[in-house]
Amino acid sequence: MTYALGPEVPLGPFEGAAVTVWSAQGRQARLHAKRSCSYLRTARVTQREVGLDASVVGRLCPSCGAYGSWARPGTGLSIFLGAVTGLGLLYELDRYVKADEDTCSDEEVAHAASVLCRPPSGSGDGLAAEDSAEAAEDEAFEALQEARHVRKIVFAEWGGALASLNRVHQVLELFPWLRPWAEPRVQRKIDYLERLRAQAARLVLRESLVGAAAVSLQQTPALPAGDPVFAPLGTAPQQAEQLTSLWRRWRGRVADSWDPPREQHYLVHHLVSGMSSRRKGREQLLERAQILLAEWEQAARSAAPGDQGERVLVARVPDTVRPAGKARESFPDRLSEWEQGVLASYMITTAGSPPAQPAVTVRVPEPVATRLLSQQSVLSYAEQRPEPSPAAVAVRSQADDSGLGPGVFDDTPVSHRRLLTAEHLRALRSTVRDAEQLYVVLGLETGVEVVALSMLEQRCAAGWQGILLAGASDLPGALIEPRQQAVSEEAAEGSSVWASPVYDPRDPAFGRSLSMAEGERVLVRLCEGRRDVGHALRSLALARSVPDLRDLGDGGYDDRGVARSPFAPAVWNGLLAMEQLDLEPFEPAADSDGRGSGLPLGMLARVQAYTTDAAGRYQGRAHSPGCAHRRAQPGVDRHDEMVTVEELLGNKGFDPCSKCGGYAVRRLTAAQVAYYRAAHQLHDCAQRVRATVWHRSAGDGSATVTALEEFDDLDARTAQACFPDHSQARQWRRAVDRLRRELQGSSAE
Ligand SMILES: [Zn+2]
Ligand SMILES: [Zn+2]
Repeated sequence: MTYALGPEVPLGPFEGAAVTVWSAQGRQARLHAKRSCSYLRTARVTQREVGLDASVVGRLCPSCGAYGSWARPGTGLSIFLGAVTGLGLLYELDRYVKADEDTCSDEEVAHAASVLCRPPSGSGDGLAAEDSAEAAEDEAFEALQEARHVRKIVFAEWGGALASLNRVHQVLELFPWLRPWAEPRVQRKIDYLERLRAQAARLVLRESLVGAAAVSLQQTPALPAGDPVFAPLGTAPQQAEQLTSLWRRWRGRVADSWDPPREQHYLVHHLVSGMSSRRKGREQLLERAQILLAEWEQAARSAAPGDQGERVLVARVPDTVRPAGKARESFPDRLSEWEQGVLASYMITTAGSPPAQPAVTVRVPEPVATRLLSQQSVLSYAEQRPEPSPAAVAVRSQADDSGLGPGVFDDTPVSHRRLLTAEHLRALRSTVRDAEQLYVVLGLETGVEVVALSMLEQRCAAGWQGILLAGASDLPGALIEPRQQAVSEEAAEGSSVWASPVYDPRDPAFGRSLSMAEGERVLVRLCEGRRDVGHALRSLALARSVPDLRDLGDGGYDDRGVARSPFAPAVWNGLLAMEQLDLEPFEPAADSDGRGSGLPLGMLARVQAYTTDAAGRYQGRAHSPGCAHRRAQPGVDRHDEMVTVEELLGNKGFDPCSKCGGYAVRRLTAAQVAYYRAAHQLHDCAQRVRATVWHRSAGDGSATVTALEEFDDLDARTAQACFPDHSQARQWRRAVDRLRRELQGSSAE
């Protein structure tokens, strides 16, 4: 069964959206979403752009209608089609609508309930013979196992139905124009879910759930360590330790279970594990421990307030618009038995007050409410507010009017863009796999910026107002393809990924390894053979305009606990050169210690350096982002420090790791590399001049004079580009003049 887009599905604002279709000749030929569709078996294919409407949808090939990618990924239309077709809304509307052969009948459930909710039987009342008592016990155990199995099936079915209905609500929240059309089918789902919920609720005792909540809220009680009956456990401190462990284990099991607390009585056997069954005092110890559990349960019950008021809580369901897939369970599977029991027993509605929202509302007694509000869960609970604030209503109705139509993402001219909302981003995140990437956004107050999706989400949540201009994936191929091709050709010639170091400043390749161009080359080489090389280059292009690269490393974690990154790890090598600048030419001039040439840092002063510790404030050496001694995550984030090369030069405390050099530099522009090379050439000249003077041999003096003349040629324009102010330009000229004088002096002698 495939769930293709049918002509009856309202397209809302996507009605008329331009899509490209392929078809064979003939008026009635089926339309296909891609040229490569296997149902398109003719060589004579025409390609057309048409407006998407019911007549076009009616002519769709079933395969393309169910899975075809009609729109560019990440656009509104693509998100809409992904959420509706395939394993989306149409599929969900068809699931969990009526009982099938695997569903438990009400009779089965009633029987199971009578077994599960039976009051505890007083063991051994002395009337029955021992044998028949044992047989009855076996029988009871079997009946219990069977009843538990029924409970498992019923809860699984109910959980599936609940998750499915919430997914429907989530899709409808994004595309509200689908609501009237979907309404009758949603109602069928709601009715069936209610039937399953009623079944599930019969299989757990509310009293047990309240008891478990009370237990979970208890602190460790006074423990009877030192009681002679616990002597087999060892010394008094050992007894205390064992009893504390029993308490923790018991409280944990009771708290997460839908069974009555008494069902956890077997836990006392942990106390005697490793103890011989013939050990004197063992039985008494177990008996005493059983009593202890009963006391704990009693204490928890009496600690709970007698008059148990009720509270209404709303649980926000995690976004599950995207199909669950094999690896991802639906949210009820990730809840404890206790929480599942609570939802089934106390649920008022599966949706917030109108409009239907993906939320679950429960009315629960006090200790259950306290527990739900304080525990860790995939659902986030909050007290239902009596009246939503007018502002919230306004925001909500605004979102409802619009939903996610065209114009939010890059699918209309910029002049038609709509303001981005947190809702839109949630839709993007929940429908597009690996949605994290860089976006160019424009805000009235913030101007044009490049930010990662996770940061954009934070911004929108904090009330930022702006539009999205383009995502990295929207950038045209023309921008990156020539570069990609050139590097690939070079790679075919067999050169290595990392260029070999160049030490002679007269070599044209000197300093090239620090350059942005080298960053592009390294990136393409590192991504060789991978499909996302183009995306990596697009990301690099965008990331270059981010003022502080640490902002790119703070994407947080996804729901599986994996760190989010807006691009492939290799992009960091495109942004940063994992090496250091040789700053010798810029150190104080020869007169002091004979090392530097006292040249101005010029345009290199503002170059960024990233390190774990720029000023020796923390324990251990400073590391570069590329160093193995640093944490494993690639790139930089807020744990790193960013300083300028000028600041770093002045930091006496900077204590670099000898392996990595302590920092990485943000890659240099071509002009910065040129200046870096010029400074090194001048410094090199100076050293040769000094050697000439020192040895009083004018051997290569003439070559040096020629070189110096080149440096003298700094015209006004170049000087302006290289140096932020006149004084630095003068400083440079003085260095050249001094060298010339030294050289002339030496040849005059
Ligand atoms: Zn097709
Ligand atoms: Zn290091």
